[in-house]
Amino acid sequence: MSELHKFIFEGLPVRGMLVRLTDAWQDILARRAANSETGAYPAPVRQLLGEMAAAGVLMQGNIKFNGALVLQIFGDGPVKLGVVEVQPDFSLRATCTQVGDVAEDASLSQMVNVNNQGRCAITLDPQDRLPGQQPYQGVVPLFGDQGEKLENISEVLEHYMLQSEQLDTVLVLAADDKVAAGLLIQRLPIEGEGNLAGKADSVEREAVLGQSEDFSRIAILTKSLKREELLTLDAETILHRLYWEEPLARFEPFIGETGPRFACRCSRERVGNMIRSLGTEEVESIIAERGQVDVGCDFCGAEYQFDPVDAAGLFTGLVPDPSGGSVH
Ligand SMILES: [Zn+2]
Repeated sequence: MSELHKFIFEGLPVRGMLVRLTDAWQDILARRAANSETGAYPAPVRQLLGEMAAAGVLMQGNIKFNGALVLQIFGDGPVKLGVVEVQPDFSLRATCTQVGDVAEDASLSQMVNVNNQGRCAITLDPQDRLPGQQPYQGVVPLFGDQGEKLENISEVLEHYMLQSEQLDTVLVLAADDKVAAGLLIQRLPIEGEGNLAGKADSVEREAVLGQSEDFSRIAILTKSLKREELLTLDAETILHRLYWEEPLARFEPFIGETGPRFACRCSRERVGNMIRSLGTEEVESIIAERGQVDVGCDFCGAEYQFDPVDAAGLFTGLVPDPSGGSVH
């Protein structure tokens, strides 16, 4: 079962989380593999999307946001789009759109950042958004301070966290065809740290420097975790192996009903709204060409059909059969 573990280091300004997506991740992959149009993801795309899924759960768990956290990659290569959406209850869905061939050993930049134009966006969409209210969005490039292409999505997100929250973050991510997992460590702000440069006395200064040493030490331990270990070891073993000398305090894990799990939020009504937004002319031309409007959900594979009567109903407001069946 998929699980999320939160922990703190007692007395130290450091907190952390560990996520392991198993059934939730396998569900996402199985739905994609069952799609006869796309087939299964190639291994490098699977790794990218799995790491994004693990990171999305960690970020949602970290900010405790009352709304959807949407992590997106807008690629300029064969992978055009990657999307992970995580709700406050840790239900999630994810999909990638591929427009070209991806080599079996493709790197991150070969997939989404060929011309250094790729972008990563993090959107926080409040649950009860008022009309006209825009969701909050932060965008970061897929290159580092010197313009060098980043080859790990974890580095991209570490940059984002530093920019948006001003917090040092260490992320380790990994995914294969069974597991998508991640470990996050974050340095908590220390009161008055910003005033240090000026008048703080030396005792205070030493105390704060000592605390940032704590973070550095825990960061080094965290980065020592190997991809293979993250994928194959259970949470207990990983936390013990890395932090057995640290004052680790654990919270009740999120697992099962409260843990991360696959859930799609598509519905006939939402698809109807999307079709309506195309406009009468566009919809009529689709019907003239194909006889009906077919829309498949990229996240779960559900297929929605709107025959001419259904489609006309979208524009007149007369929906012939709200239960979803087409009228024949
Ligand atoms: Zn769906």
